[in-house]
Amino acid sequence: MAELLERWLEAAAQDPSAAGPPPSTQDVLAQLAGDDPRVANLVRYMSLLEAQAAEDDEAEDEPEPPPPAYDTTEIRIAVRRLHAEVEQLRHRNDLLAAALGGCYLCWGEDPACENCAGRGRPGSSLPDARAFRACVLPAVRRVSATRRAAVPPTSPTEGAPQ
Ligand SMILES: [Zn+2]
Repeated sequence: MAELLERWLEAAAQDPSAAGPPPSTQDVLAQLAGDDPRVANLVRYMSLLEAQAAEDDEAEDEPEPPPPAYDTTEIRIAVRRLHAEVEQLRHRNDLLAAALGGCYLCWGEDPACENCAGRGRPGSSLPDARAFRACVLPAVRRVSATRRAAVPPTSPTEGAPQ
């Protein structure tokens, strides 16, 4: 038996935890073979197999390539469009709230509103005159005109006391 293996077996028998890892098969075979070239070739062959296996393991440990980069152009364009639309809607909201004298943040619907504490319904404050003329007055005139057109003209005698 190879000395290397004998020493390790003795050490393991006395204290398995102190014996350390067992000698490699190649080392034991090399010692057993002595000058036998056939066993020396076998040991070299086993070393090559081991090196190949280690190389394969390393290849498996390589990190995966990063995922393909996505083209975010369309998303960025959509976000820009939405942002512009929100800005436009905010402007209209603020203008209409000013025209109606209401809270531009919650229209009086949010008791936790930092602007009005839920008391900002339309008419809760004096409407902004310029915004009122721009937004509300045309609508009021339209309603008045429609009502006038719907009511038939009254004759001077109609409804008069007899
Ligand atoms: Zn409010």
